[in-house]
Amino acid sequence: MDETDAKPPRTIPPGLHLVATPIGHARDITLRALDVLRGADLVAAEDTRRIRRLMTIHGIARAGREIVAYHDHNAGRAGPRLLAALAEGRSVAYASDAGTPLVADPGLRLVREAIAAGHPVHAVPGPVAAIAALTVAGLPTDRFLFAGFLPARSAARRTALAELAAVPATLIFHESPHRIGEALRDMAAVLGAARPAVLARELTKRHEEVLRGDLGVLVEQVAARGGEGRPLKGEMVVLVGPPMAGRVDETAIEQALAAALSSMSLKDSARFVADTLKLPRKRIYQKALEMRRRQGEGTDDGNE
Ligand code: SAM
Repeated sequence: MDETDAKPPRTIPPGLHLVATPIGHARDITLRALDVLRGADLVAAEDTRRIRRLMTIHGIARAGREIVAYHDHNAGRAGPRLLAALAEGRSVAYASDAGTPLVADPGLRLVREAIAAGHPVHAVPGPVAAIAALTVAGLPTDRFLFAGFLPARSAARRTALAELAAVPATLIFHESPHRIGEALRDMAAVLGAARPAVLARELTKRHEEVLRGDLGVLVEQVAARGGEGRPLKGEMVVLVGPPMAGRVDETAIEQALAAALSSMSLKDSARFVADTLKLPRKRIYQKALEMRRRQGEGTDDGNE
């Protein structure tokens, strides 16, 4: 920490400032984020109403500044305006809807264009839902992999999960309340029901809730809540603990193979699953053959 920086700055330096904003609690904003929103020559945001509301809550006046909308759908039009301001040596603050811009949020294109044009890019760090969830989960934090949102369709989701099954790290996913039940079922099927898991919901908000257990337990808890007529709502992060060294659940192997077999040949599926789960190819090929036999769909696809 640099104590000389403890006072508010007189001016905001030129360049693009990526400002993290609250993921729920309005007071989860740093003093520096407020300084930058107050002092930047131009403020841009994914949602202009939202940033104006946040600025009002914290007593920041627009002071005649225009607030520019910048999101995935208008980046082609709004980007050049922001880059022109940067080229004039102005300071531009950019905030996404919640948390840190670029983390499952817009901003990457703008950052790349600013870098390419030689403009300074500054981080104004703050909340990130994935990290807030990781800190309360009680799962290993020494290695984690942020996987964002999984595909919406089950087959694609299972393939994506199979790729992650052997990663020796805590996995972090964003999930929507509409899909949480099916997503957890796919996670249990592909990663193994015994993997420790946590669902962190509405963090920093009034209905904050953290469910801890394993994937099998979470599947049951979420299903039971639906049955009681109070399904889980709001914003949620799912975390899955790393696989136990050297132990991959037989069901997990079968599920990963089943997912792979839906889009690949038997040989490719066996190779993909073996490499992903770091298991011997021959063993997985035999298992794939067995599965085919059980399904009564023939014994071989002529490979190997
Ligand atoms: N840029 C954001 C960040 O830094 O956290 C993430 C934006 S992403 C579009 C939104 C997702 O983040 C939600 O669907 C949910 O998975 C997660 N999220 C955001 N706020 C949350 C909260 N208060 N509690 C739990 N999850 C949250």
